[in-house]
Amino acid sequence: MNCSIAIVGTGPAGFYLADLLTKKLEHCQLDLIDRLPTPFGLIRAAVAPDHIPTKNITRQFERVLQRDNVRFLGNIEVGRDISYDELKANYDLVILATGAIKDRELTIEGLELQDSETGNSAIEGIYGSGQFVTWYNTHPDHHGFTPKLNGRAVAIIGNGNVALDIARILGKTPEEMKGSDINPQAQRLIEKANIEDIYIIGRRGPIEASFTPFELEELSQLNRCVPLIYNSDGESSTIPQQVGDGYDTRESKSRQKNLELLQSYSENQVDDKPVRLHFLFWHSPIKIAAENGHITSLSLKKTQLKDNHLIETDQTLTLTVDTLISAIGYRSTEISGVPFDQQTGRVTNQAGRVEDGVYCVGWCKRGPQGVIPSNRADAIEMAKTIIADLEISPITQPKPGRETIDQLLTRRNIRVVTTEDWHKIDQAEINRAPVDKVREKFATIEQMLAVLD
Ligand code: NAP
Repeated sequence: MNCSIAIVGTGPAGFYLADLLTKKLEHCQLDLIDRLPTPFGLIRAAVAPDHIPTKNITRQFERVLQRDNVRFLGNIEVGRDISYDELKANYDLVILATGAIKDRELTIEGLELQDSETGNSAIEGIYGSGQFVTWYNTHPDHHGFTPKLNGRAVAIIGNGNVALDIARILGKTPEEMKGSDINPQAQRLIEKANIEDIYIIGRRGPIEASFTPFELEELSQLNRCVPLIYNSDGESSTIPQQVGDGYDTRESKSRQKNLELLQSYSENQVDDKPVRLHFLFWHSPIKIAAENGHITSLSLKKTQLKDNHLIETDQTLTLTVDTLISAIGYRSTEISGVPFDQQTGRVTNQAGRVEDGVYCVGWCKRGPQGVIPSNRADAIEMAKTIIADLEISPITQPKPGRETIDQLLTRRNIRVVTTEDWHKIDQAEINRAPVDKVREKFATIEQMLAVLD
């Protein structure tokens, strides 16, 4: 079928869907649009810098870029350089795959004071995981940002893989980061920091934590950092033996493995290694205190389940902390004109359908859940939906397609980054990497574009 397709966002969801659609709609022309000059979305921005094998999925995505009917159009921001309405007017299908990287806001006492420009806490030492992770991954949005890491204790709120990633990156030695693509400034700052205690704080328990066993187990192998179970009651162990009912077989197995790992961590000794990583379950953050504009402590309320509802008890625990990172999930970024659900922070959709000819896929559709292959399953489902819709309502009046879009971009003097351009940036990043790193990413869009001129 002859049709023109724009996919906005070039993370895994966008690429998986591009792969499927270009196979199924043989004669389509597909443009992958990204606001950055670089493709691959969360693979560059959020996958941990020491998880290099995970990033190898980009080889598969590169093969999609090699197809004759596929183009990468980088450095184009929808809503700034080209409007959503212009995309709809020119492409037969518009697919939003813009992900979710804006931090969900932690609302606790003491955090009300916010920077009017960034929306971040005006108190120093408090960060969202999106900001923190993209900082150590050299995302151009956070060029110039430097977190304060000059204290001894870091608290991370949230019991997901992002919390584990952050703890691991803070806990690793420079030697252990060899072969990574971490931001060099971040590496130096972490190296210089005198972190002694890292707390990973969950408002629910070890069974409910959404860690995956592989990521949890990695913490047992760190040279200078020992995982421990923090026990506010002085009981011998807070880790249950069995997962119990309520999970399907796969989930149950994964959670059981988590329990076994956490049980083994409860046997570790506090003085085993210089950096202690405490898992603190059943505690909800309620308040921070600050002195001279810098966070000094975090107060938590002990929680428990009552009739399947999480409630806070009267028991309070206050930790001295110098840095607080909330890793409590993400929201999508709103694009002018795109229907958006403020409550959930996602594109408004019905099983991926946004409006006539417009679909969404990945985290902007279903929220920030699941590992990279979950996006493949989502893309398969969306490809089926799109093909089924085209069978019911075939395209009878094709839209102008990419020629008109190219003319618009040229008229607006937009420096479009093509696949060939991206490959130059890619090679330049690999070439400039020191011997012990796989690549040294450019920190700004200007630096990336300078490679092309
Ligand atoms: P996540 O797995 O959804 O975890 C978010 C955590 O934040 C949950 O423990 C949640 O607790 C907690 N939380 C939410 N609101 C809170 C609040 N107000 N106060 C205290 N705690 C709160 O999300 P994530 O860690 O951001 O990860 C996002 C997705 O990316 C996940 O699917 C994850 O597996 C994936 N990921 C994968 C990898 C990997 O495979 N290596 C690495 C990073 C991320 P409740 O459960 O009680 O709501």
